[in-house]
Amino acid sequence: MRVCMLCNSLASVEKSCPECGALMVDAGLIQDYYDNYSAYLGQDIYEDGYRCYNELFCVHLFNCPQCHYDVSLKLRRVEEERLMD
Ligand SMILES: [Zn+2]
Ligand SMILES: [Zn+2]
Repeated sequence: MRVCMLCNSLASVEKSCPECGALMVDAGLIQDYYDNYSAYLGQDIYEDGYRCYNELFCVHLFNCPQCHYDVSLKLRRVEEERLMD
């Protein structure tokens, strides 16, 4: 079974905003976002982001607290067995 390091709090990602350089915050899993907020997210983003989410990758949404720029970040899942070592 593959797990996402970020979902399991095994790693954190520090990403700077491409627009203003502030440190972006993990706004959560992109599919959770869509469930709750799909009403006001653009359809183009929906189709694009959702397709990336699969067994091998987990997609998180990062938001800039300063200028509110969002990016989705695709994270490679790791084999759970490898975490036990
Ligand atoms: Zn994840
Ligand atoms: Zn920003």
